[in-house]
Parts: sequence; C-alpha cells; structure tokens
Amino acid sequence: MSIILDGKKLAQEMELILKQTIESELEVAKRPPGLAVLRVGDDPASGVYVNYKEKACERIGVKSFAKHLKEDISLVELTEIIQSLNKAKDVDGILLQLPLPSHLDEASLLSSIDPDKDADGLHPLNLGRLLKGEKGPRSCTPAGVMALLKRNQIKIEGKRAVVVGRSILVGKPMALMLEAANATVTVAHSKTKDLPTLTREADLLVVAAGKPLLIGGNHVNANCVVVDVGIHRLPSDKKNTEESKKTKLCGDVKTFEIQDKVVAFSPVPGGVGPMTVTMLLANTVDRWQKHCGLPLTISHLLP
Ligand code: NAP
Repeated sequence: MSIILDGKKLAQEMELILKQTIESELEVAKRPPGLAVLRVGDDPASGVYVNYKEKACERIGVKSFAKHLKEDISLVELTEIIQSLNKAKDVDGILLQLPLPSHLDEASLLSSIDPDKDADGLHPLNLGRLLKGEKGPRSCTPAGVMALLKRNQIKIEGKRAVVVGRSILVGKPMALMLEAANATVTVAHSKTKDLPTLTREADLLVVAAGKPLLIGGNHVNANCVVVDVGIHRLPSDKKNTEESKKTKLCGDVKTFEIQDKVVAFSPVPGGVGPMTVTMLLANTVDRWQKHCGLPLTISHLLP
C-alpha cells in the first residue's frame, strides 16, 4: 500500500499550532499578526487563491489587510502601496499574488517588498539567502513540500531527487531546499530530453511543470516518492448533465497510474495546495514573533 502524503490533514494540524501560538502570545505582543495579500486585476484563479488565504487568516487569528487593485494600476501606484505596507507597524507579511498583468514589472515589485516582510520568500535577498543556506523566509509551495515529506518521515538525505520544472516560484527553490537537505538533485525542464528515463532514476520526484497529467506510470520506479505540485481545472467528462457544468481538479501526475506502484504520493486536491497556504501563515506568524520581540517558537515548522 502506498503512503498518501495528506496535505489537508497536516495543514489542519499546523493551523492549530499556529492558532494556539497566536492566542497564547497575543497579550504580550499587543496586536495580532498581520498579512497583506495584494491582488491585481480579475484573474479568476488568483481570486480563488486569495479567497483561500483570507479565510485561512480568519481561522487562525491573523489580521488580513488584503487589497484588490484595479487591472490598470501603474507600477508607481503599486510600488507606493507596497512601500506604505513596508512601513505599517501592524503588517508582518506582504504577498503579491502572481501572475500580474503584463504591463507591471514583477521583478521590480517583488524587490520593493521589505525582505523582512517577504511572506512568500521571493525577494532577491531571500532567494540569495536560500542559495547560501542562510536563514530567511522561504517560498511557500516548496516549503510546504518539505514539511509534507518531513511529517511523513520520508528520508531525503542521500536520495536521488528529480524536480520537474525550474520556475523561480517552485522548481528552483524546491531544488535548493532538497539539496540543502542533502539530496542529489537534478532539475528537468521543457528542453530535457527523454524525461521518462531521467525520472525513473528518482527516489524522490517533485513535479511542478504546469502540464496536466504529464507524468504517468512509465515515469516512475517502485521505490519512488512522488509529489505533485501541479493544479489544473479540467472540464468534466460528463455530458449534458448538471455535473457537466462542474470542473474537476487534477495535477501534473496521472495519479491513477502511479498510486499502486510507488512508495508514496501526494494527491490533487488535498496534497501540496493546502500546505502552500499554511506555510504562508507560518511565515507570517514567524515574522510577527520576530517583529514583536517574542521567542521564535515555530521555527521547527519551517524548512
Ligand atoms: P511555470 O512558471 O509555468 O513553470 C513550469 C516549469 O515546468 C518550467 O520550468 C518549464 O520549463 C517546465 N516544463 C513545462 N513543460 C515541461 C515538460 N513537458 N517537461 C519538463 N518540464 C516542463 O509554473 P509554476 O509556477 O512553477 O507552477 C507549476 C505548476 O504548479 C502549475 O500547475 C501551478 O498551477 C502549480 N502551482 C501549485 C501551487 C500549489 O499551491 N499547489 C503553487 C504554485 C504553483 P521551461 O523553464 O523550459 O519553460
């Protein structure tokens, strides 16, 4: 029987720890943790993700300073909003929801976030810290994968890891975190030749290619642990019924082909997705403890 890497359950456990931490330290801190999620324009998927994040803040007692900004906001206007959040005493974390409309310069906006309030670990300074193995906020999705592996006692040291995808949001920081945990890491991308031969050599396969059902049974060996980061909405295969109007979620992996073959796998939904939101909360609570001069008691939850 394969182990299911249950991100939903772990996210609930971690949220409880974070909620209790906030409750027990609120009196000394004199204010709750604050998180500002900035959404620009009306991308529907971003709307869903921001909604999840706001609800999660509410559940554990983080004050949300979410802003929904107009599609045609200028770079100057958005930079000014970020700078005012950088100065705000009650804001501990800032997250700029990606993707941004094409007229906005993502790199310059991410760089304008105070690195100490960088809730998604994407500021160049924090990426540099990750590269050098120094402490700092880490990117939420790969951090969530690391927490999921740790909770399920999946040994990383000495393992042959393959990460499919090299984005700055997931693939690259994922590879660095696995390497820091002493895996031997190979990164595959769209120009990689003969992907199945490469991935079949992996003890640990993390897939973040953004291609629905890319990885199937012929990509894995029986000793492999498979983590599926991808998330896609596919039209229902049911025809002309109420059900046909609904979409269904899938990842980058054909779970039905690998689930009885490998040592462990993460499902979609209920795997990496909930962990991403929880690591955002964990980063925010960690920053809050730092900003309020409290002991850093949740560092063990972060990679
Ligand atoms: P991205 O920026 O589009 O990057 C995709 C990466 O995959 C690129 O490096 C690309 O290679 C590579 N790739 C594409 N096709 C490939 C193929 N056929 N073989 C091997 N590599 C291939 O996507 P992302 O932001 O990293 O996100 C990846 C997926 O994770 C998406 O489905 C996204 O929705 C999901 N995601 C989920 C969460 C979550 O919380 N669960 C969070 C973030 C992202 P090149 O560099 O050569 O183009």
